[in-house]
Amino acid sequence: DNGLSEADPEVRAIIEMEKERQFKSLELIASENFTYRAVMEAVGSCLTNKYSEGLPGKRYYGGNEHIDELETLCQKRALDAFHLDGKKWGVNVQPLSGSPANFEVYTAVLKPHDRLMGLDLSHGGHLSHGFMTPKRRVSGTSIYFESMSYRLNESTGLVDYDKLEEMADRFKPKLIIAGASAYPRDFDYPRMRKIADAVGAFLMMDMAHISGLVAASVLANPFDYCDIVTTTTHKSLRGPRGGMIFFKKDPVLGVDLESAINNAVFPGLQGGPHNHTIGGLAVCLKYAQSPEFKAYQNKVVSNCRALASRLTELGYKLVSGGSDNHLVLVDLRPLGIDGARVEKILDKASITLNKNSVPGDKSAVVPGGIRIGSPAMTTRGFAEKDFIAVADYIHEGVQITIDAKRAVSGSKLQDFMKFVASPEFSLKDRVLD
Ligand code: PLP
Repeated sequence: DNGLSEADPEVRAIIEMEKERQFKSLELIASENFTYRAVMEAVGSCLTNKYSEGLPGKRYYGGNEHIDELETLCQKRALDAFHLDGKKWGVNVQPLSGSPANFEVYTAVLKPHDRLMGLDLSHGGHLSHGFMTPKRRVSGTSIYFESMSYRLNESTGLVDYDKLEEMADRFKPKLIIAGASAYPRDFDYPRMRKIADAVGAFLMMDMAHISGLVAASVLANPFDYCDIVTTTTHKSLRGPRGGMIFFKKDPVLGVDLESAINNAVFPGLQGGPHNHTIGGLAVCLKYAQSPEFKAYQNKVVSNCRALASRLTELGYKLVSGGSDNHLVLVDLRPLGIDGARVEKILDKASITLNKNSVPGDKSAVVPGGIRIGSPAMTTRGFAEKDFIAVADYIHEGVQITIDAKRAVSGSKLQDFMKFVASPEFSLKDRVLD
């Protein structure tokens, strides 16, 4: 059997180009990271060949003795990595990613059209937490369940727990979801527990973005207060692309979460697990228990703080005024520009980050902010001084964006994008290159 270079030079070439892009660019997307070589070896292994529907010891196919050993090891490491007592907590390591993991929880504990509450997408929540617009139910979560989003207090940039409490009291959700994709602060789990208890709701934390920080005890521990915790495995945790669902073993609100969640994953929503991913995840969870991992997560946070304080020095407005975790959210609206234009300019200088809504935004297509994360470049060895330099580069990019916006004829985003793509515009004439 041939290797990739002989079998498919076209795909090989694309991979090489992507490798070079990843190597050369400043990767600041808060949800991305560079996984370990050992994880990639496991993900690229023969584990991908095997079908193993079911759980260890209870499979629908033969030949699973090694896969059983692998998945059991992965489960044990998952519980150990998050300091959980296996008598009280269980875990399913089969979810294919974060969105499927969340939907699996919903189908496990809710009936169709039961009510749930998550953080609004435009205030930092994730699509899978129930996003809908006044015109359209966008995410499957809002199509199959009734969703009412809670929001941030726009003046503080913090979750408005008082309002959440008031809304929960009226809406009576069966599930409240903590967790976010673009929230620079930690969650108040005791407060959310109280709100959930007052209305008889399950409390779930989606710690996708911060699971590495939670494993390293750099942020508060959601397991002390939540009934269910979901996560992706490829963000701050540094594993392969995948998902996990942790659940309390004792029944909650009369529901046996263990069987409800395991059945929701398979046969409810998935077929055969991706054993190569589970192999890679087991490797990542071994790393996650090391002192080096804890040191890395501490650096993720200190680097992010250095970035936040340099941006503040440069006059930027940050949502919530700073960051306690791995990301900052910059509100560009006071400068008369938006996240889409800045993202485009920085992309041209190989600085990769994403446009992001900020509280009070009118448009999701041309949002007023950018999200900047520290995990990936911390993996690449960046220290605080490097993140200060990153803030300065971003500042240059913002200045160039302001100039370019002035120089463009027409006010639409399309006009700007056309101008930036034209030979008339060159970063080389400007400082940033
Ligand atoms: N949950 C949160 C909080 C996320 O930020 C994301 C992705 O960014 C997900 C879930 C979904 O993960 P995936 O893209 O793996 O489905």
